[in-house]
Amino acid sequence: MNMQIDSEYRPDAVVVGGGIAGLQSALDLADQGLKVLIVERQPSIGGHMIALSKVYPTLDCASCITTPKMSAAAHHENITILTNTEVKAIKSADGMHRVELLQKPTYVNFDKCIGCRQCEYACDSEYPDPFERGLGTVRAIAVPFTNAIPQKAILDAEHCGTCGTCARVCPTDAIEYDQQPRSLTIRTDAVIVASGFLLNDIHLKPQYNAHRNKNIIDSLTLERLLAPHGPYGRVLRPSDGKIPTSVAFVQCAGSRDESIGVPYCSRVCCMYAIKQAMLLSGSLPLADITIYYMDIRAFGKGYEQFYQNAKAMGINFARGKVARIEPVSSGDLSLHVESTEDALNPLQEHRHDLVVLAQGMIPGWNPTVDTPVTCASDGFVETPMLTAPTITNAPGIFVAGAAAGPKDIVDTIAEAGAAAMQVSQYLFQKRSPVLVG
Ligand SMILES: Cc1cc2nc3c(=O)[nH]c(=O)nc-3n(C[C@H](O)[C@H](O)[C@H](O)COP(=O)(O)OP(=O)(O)OC[C@H]3O[C@@H](n4cnc5c(N)ncnc54)[C@H](O)[C@@H]3O)c2cc1C
Repeated sequence: MNMQIDSEYRPDAVVVGGGIAGLQSALDLADQGLKVLIVERQPSIGGHMIALSKVYPTLDCASCITTPKMSAAAHHENITILTNTEVKAIKSADGMHRVELLQKPTYVNFDKCIGCRQCEYACDSEYPDPFERGLGTVRAIAVPFTNAIPQKAILDAEHCGTCGTCARVCPTDAIEYDQQPRSLTIRTDAVIVASGFLLNDIHLKPQYNAHRNKNIIDSLTLERLLAPHGPYGRVLRPSDGKIPTSVAFVQCAGSRDESIGVPYCSRVCCMYAIKQAMLLSGSLPLADITIYYMDIRAFGKGYEQFYQNAKAMGINFARGKVARIEPVSSGDLSLHVESTEDALNPLQEHRHDLVVLAQGMIPGWNPTVDTPVTCASDGFVETPMLTAPTITNAPGIFVAGAAAGPKDIVDTIAEAGAAAMQVSQYLFQKRSPVLVG
């Protein structure tokens, strides 16, 4: 892992995004002897997967699967990783791609930082921890999270009290308050776009009143509450630390809805809600858990059985649409539901003390990125060939994972391997045109 490069550096391929798709593609390419640069805009590689608790359908610990991949990429002699760096543009001409990067200042010299955390322990300024989705706090200078890669401290300028303590306690003189953003352009033969997804805004639907009650959370926040190394170490509701006794999952809260610009199905929400309900029932055996859904889409191998197992465990599945959520006394919430299974009593009201909204998945790719790659009307990277789902309309630029549309980890990994194969085939043809005719 070499984080100091200049524009002379010339990798065979650049991978945009260090999530599970980017890591898998990079490892597959690097194992073939190709030089790969992974560019990740967050302080650590790992993408969304490193923040998940356990994963369906196996209920394996997510970080136990992700951390070895992160570590393998970081230690691979053919892989270079730039974190805190965003791909701002890809310009293609004459079979070459110029990838324009913006490196954000970390105010820490990564060559000198040994990850000892002395600066973090000495720092007095705290702010809501972005890795924990705002639950709990993190110091203004800190290693981003326990299994982050790289294990280097980063200073958040917005929350720094500029007291100078970190520089005084740092044993290696790594603090550099005068760092500036740095632009860099890298030339490469091939690019894999593995820029993943984001959840859409929890406030998109005012009728759900997420702005009025902290106990209405999104699904990634619940992942952190369920993670053994999460913000509280157990599931407590955010407003008052109460142990929840009645939890509601509201499906399709940000998908399959033209009015918010997400008419498509986000594909993973049914399955992760079932997974989360099962994990919740394990950690809160006395809690009532209800999943309000329009229809359950358990389409993958072993997924239907997973759904049936959840029913057998006592998870309630209520078919209908949650029309409105109203905060009531003591932080509880009243759900107004139109049931589609109870014809005699279709308009119902149910009280819960924690509500999880299944927000929709939208492209992680910033729409302002200037590239020759075409995006479909939903904003995800377009893949014009049905039989080659990793090929984009731009020669030499490929796509993998959720960057091309919502998908789960199994499909993401399969696509990442396919994208790596497409890149190596493309480079082979490009570099030995005579051999392949
Ligand atoms: C709540 C929840 C629970 C889930 N649980 C499961 C589960 O149990 N099992 C399962 O199979 N799937 C699950 N999923 C789906 C799973 O998270 C995705 O399949 C997987 O994360 C997709 O990986 P990815 O690498 O394509 O995208 P991401 O994980 O989003 O990674 C993309 C990376 O690209 C970076 N990036 C984006 N744009 C740029 C840029 N311009 N420059 C540099 N970097 C950039 C991002 O910062 C990010 O790190 C869940 C999803 C959610 C929302």
